[in-house]
Amino acid sequence: MVASEVRALFSVASRPEIVSLAGGMPNVSALPMDAVGALMAELVAERGAVALQYGSAQGDPGLRETICRVMAAEGIDDASPDDVVVTVGSQQALDLVTRVFVDPGDTVVTEAPTYVTALGVFAAYQADVVHVTMDEDGVVPEALAETFARLARAGRPAKLFYTVPTFQNPAGVTLSEERRPRVVEVCRRAGVLLVEDNPYGLLHLDGDEPMRALRADAPADVVYLGSFSKTLAPGLRVGWALAPAAVREKLVLAAESAMLSHSVFNQLAVDRYLRTQPWPEQMRDFREMYRERRGVMLDALEKYMPPGVSWTRPAGGFFVWVTLPEGLDSKAMLPRAIQSRVAYVPGTGFFADGGGRQAMRLSYCYPPPERIHDGVRLLADVITDELRLRETFGTSAPADSGGPQAPGPDQA
Ligand code: PMP
Repeated sequence: MVASEVRALFSVASRPEIVSLAGGMPNVSALPMDAVGALMAELVAERGAVALQYGSAQGDPGLRETICRVMAAEGIDDASPDDVVVTVGSQQALDLVTRVFVDPGDTVVTEAPTYVTALGVFAAYQADVVHVTMDEDGVVPEALAETFARLARAGRPAKLFYTVPTFQNPAGVTLSEERRPRVVEVCRRAGVLLVEDNPYGLLHLDGDEPMRALRADAPADVVYLGSFSKTLAPGLRVGWALAPAAVREKLVLAAESAMLSHSVFNQLAVDRYLRTQPWPEQMRDFREMYRERRGVMLDALEKYMPPGVSWTRPAGGFFVWVTLPEGLDSKAMLPRAIQSRVAYVPGTGFFADGGGRQAMRLSYCYPPPERIHDGVRLLADVITDELRLRETFGTSAPADSGGPQAPGPDQA
């Protein structure tokens, strides 16, 4: 396990004078805090003896029912609460799935780039990560099939394919509807478990309806990971896995050895919140808020970025992936950006193979719109200066090696 080399810089980046476009933190201050507080007080008064007691490793049955209703919005209408395992965020769900399936030296296939802390999990279980290409429509099914075939020929067949198909972290890319069944089929044919990590699915910013989850059409082939971190509150640490029965049994055993039981209090609080609060309407407001911020970021990129810089246009979620002109190095540039009072996450952390030097992740979820605008303007100035320097002196300073790094929690 390796700490991120940029971690120290991020403690500087959290100073108020710096615009951080680095963090993946949802804007929890938009929650009705009074209602949350009242609900927690009621919970203790009415069900304190249960809420403050140990619970089952699989999670509270009532919450698991509620989770099934939440997943129905993404086309998963056949899920049974029996097949849901509640976890400490979806992060723990991924850890448990990897613990169950992956032995040291096994091969895990992911998108390139991929979620940085998933790379941290795979590294901790000593998996070899192999990346597969994405374009603006997500992972390319032919490239995935080719990667599986190449790995099988080399005697190290893929154990699982980890994907964030919807509003991906970090690239902000979504797997197109047309490709979804093809990706499932490629995994099925190759006998590779598909792990669908979907914390952002309900944060669709274009159109009224969420995307259909991969799991909706492939109940036997997909382990689906969900989370209330982006749709309610990451501080409650409530996520889940939905898995075919045989896998679910192993996940429960793994959960038991990892934590005995999840916080019953937090589970009941989430369940009560969803049952008593106008959550769907709040989700509409959250989407509205993030839609505005995304618009501000994309407009500012258009307005200020010098030629040669390109970026993705996410249809939901929190992130924009920016690609710099040839020769610029996002990690080498970060100290200068922070000096100029703007922070981002360099691309290298999202690759297991040293890729991503020319890229960075920007997020629009947390700073208010005017700060997003200012941050992008400051960043564009830094990039323009770097380009001038490069013209004068050649390439920018080389950075150290890439590879999976553990982010600070504010970068997740
Ligand atoms: N997967 C992805 C793709 C994420 O972006 C995150 C949070 N940044 C997680 C999983 C983990 O979320 P949590 O553990 O809070 O549910």
